[in-house]
Amino acid sequence: HAKSAGKNNYQYYSGMMNHSSLDKLELQNDLHRAVAAGAFELCYQPVIDLNTRRLISVEALVRWHHPQRGSIPPEVFISMAEETGLIVPLGNWVLNEACRQMAQWRRDGLAVQRVAVNISALQFSEGSLLRQVIDALDVSGLPSHCLALELTESVLMEDVAYTLGMLADLKAMDVKISIDDFGTGYSSMSYLKQFPIDSLKIDRSFVANLPGSTQDSAITQAIIAMAHSFNLTVVAEGVETEEQASYLDSLGCEKCQGFLYGKPMPAQEVNRLVENSTKIDLQLVQLIGDG
Ligand code: C2E
Ligand code: MG
Ligand code: MG
Ligand code: MG
Repeated sequence: HAKSAGKNNYQYYSGMMNHSSLDKLELQNDLHRAVAAGAFELCYQPVIDLNTRRLISVEALVRWHHPQRGSIPPEVFISMAEETGLIVPLGNWVLNEACRQMAQWRRDGLAVQRVAVNISALQFSEGSLLRQVIDALDVSGLPSHCLALELTESVLMEDVAYTLGMLADLKAMDVKISIDDFGTGYSSMSYLKQFPIDSLKIDRSFVANLPGSTQDSAITQAIIAMAHSFNLTVVAEGVETEEQASYLDSLGCEKCQGFLYGKPMPAQEVNRLVENSTKIDLQLVQLIGDG
């Protein structure tokens, strides 16, 4: 009797121990299937020009709606895709979909200048990114200056010689380069003088406590001053309040992005947002013209 209970206990505990890894394996399989089927949604978050307070460009952010588990956070499935190598085909899907949509917006005459696409570590180092970018631009017909790639400091610093070559090729094509989550990586900053970068995105952890925090204000001002001395534009991430937006504008920050102006949204909502603001412009022009 005792023996059989022990055996049951053993099975029970071994079942428990395997549960999370089985769960993970199952999610990996589902991710594999989703990648094969292209079963993702690409959302777009408005990037606002702080001078005009108008949408100037968008950042593409991928969404996975799992058939049983519902929506899975990008932090979860992007890191899983990194671990399994699935980020390469997934990233390629994102790149193609973002270029296709951006080209469509241009054909529609929508005032969106550029789409930014996040590139993860393996995608950057693996070797096929340049080919993927060339193909996505070619298939979509999108001009290369309408595409920006977002890379983090740690990705850029992994292999400086490789990064220099890669960025030179992208620069020669006129694809824009942004550094994402700036200030959070353990960067040397000396790379800013050698890498051909177009903009820095201030991480939202610094923006969250503006303008109240003197420390975060100091960091933000230092980032903006340094960026400008390298002729880089600055985008503040995670702007949620008008106080943050006007403070950043007063510091000379060019652009911002955050829930104040819009969460990541489906492409159709970007159409509505931009079309509505254009309509208001036309009405104003007519009003002034009539008066
Ligand atoms: P990220 O590139 O830094 O993107 C910004 C994240 O901040 C997004 O989270 C966005 O929804 C969120 N955010 C924007 N404004 C605000 C705000 O005002 N307040 C707060 N609290 N959050 C805000 P999301 O979409 O969950 O993406 C998380 C991360 O996952 C991204 O960080 C990016 O690193 C990664 N990611 C998302 N899509 C892709 C993709 O297509 N490819 C790759 N490689 N990574 C992606
Ligand atoms: Mg300004
Ligand atoms: Mg980003
Ligand atoms: Mg970021």
